[in-house]
Amino acid sequence: MNGNPLLEIEDLFTVYNTEIGVVKAINGISLQLREGMTLGLVGETGAGKTTTALSIMRLLPEKTGKVIKGAIKFEGKNLLDLDEFEMEKIRGKEISMIFQDPLSSLNPIMTVADQIEEVLMIHQSDKKKKSYNFLQNSQLFLRSNTKIERKTDEILELVGISSDRKREFPHQFSGGMKQRVSIAMALICNPKLIIADEPTTALDVTIQAQVIEIMEKLKQQLNTAMILITHDLGIVASICDEIAIMYAGEIIEFGTVEDIFDRNKKHHPYTQGLFDSIPRLDDDKPRLKPIRGLMPDPTDLPASCKFHPRCDFCMDICTKQNPLPLKEQMHMIRCHLYSGSKEL
Ligand code: SF4
Repeated sequence: MNGNPLLEIEDLFTVYNTEIGVVKAINGISLQLREGMTLGLVGETGAGKTTTALSIMRLLPEKTGKVIKGAIKFEGKNLLDLDEFEMEKIRGKEISMIFQDPLSSLNPIMTVADQIEEVLMIHQSDKKKKSYNFLQNSQLFLRSNTKIERKTDEILELVGISSDRKREFPHQFSGGMKQRVSIAMALICNPKLIIADEPTTALDVTIQAQVIEIMEKLKQQLNTAMILITHDLGIVASICDEIAIMYAGEIIEFGTVEDIFDRNKKHHPYTQGLFDSIPRLDDDKPRLKPIRGLMPDPTDLPASCKFHPRCDFCMDICTKQNPLPLKEQMHMIRCHLYSGSKEL
């Protein structure tokens, strides 16, 4: 098992106070991510994946979103205890985020190079920033500017964009190329952790494959830890080391990619449902089986198993008690089916 713990989420609860009531988006999740590892956060829309990312980045909507309990430790430091100024230093430099729609992170009226260089300038140390201001009209500035430009060229080449195109604007790039630019912006400060929120969802299938290939290559070359948020099990299989399956703001199964994809192992009925609802080449089942029903109303969650109204294996206890996590080595399942078992 490689790497020291980089990120530790402990018993996290996040809510949104809305006009229709309190949306319980995250309900007591605990996770650990080690240096250089890639964790897949998998689940359907509304499972709490993006809220987990926004809680880590401290980017929840100011008026409605709130972490009400728990800790998010990055290199041992609880991010929830930091003031906005301290958090600003971590965002982009130590932890950066790639969003689903690349246009949301790109400025349409700045060239690609200017945007990447701006990220670098913002995260220079204060000392360097002062000297940058002082040097702006001097020869030394030209030299430091050349260094920044070289770094921009390198990062663009790394994500497969020719540096000849760096003076172009976002609208001159295709969707896949725009996403590569936002990946370059996320990487430019060598962050220790990247959170990628559905980075391929807004792209065509062929372009998706290219972006995934780039991310796989970067993972091998840079050894940056990553949280990959997706509903696509194919993507997690190709990139992730560990997988957390989320449902109604809880982690209902966690394991290594081998644990989750081993069909001979025990699984949470929801995980099983996710696998049954995707086509498989080695399966001769005539039809796919979608998971029936919908996720429960997040303003009115049952105190028992949150999956019980949709579960084919529901027992009496499932409607009364929330199952405790049962763990064997890295593999964890929260389900009463296995509560009496000694092992998974
Ligand atoms: Fe189904 Fe019960 Fe397990 Fe929930 S606890 S997933 S209802 S078997």
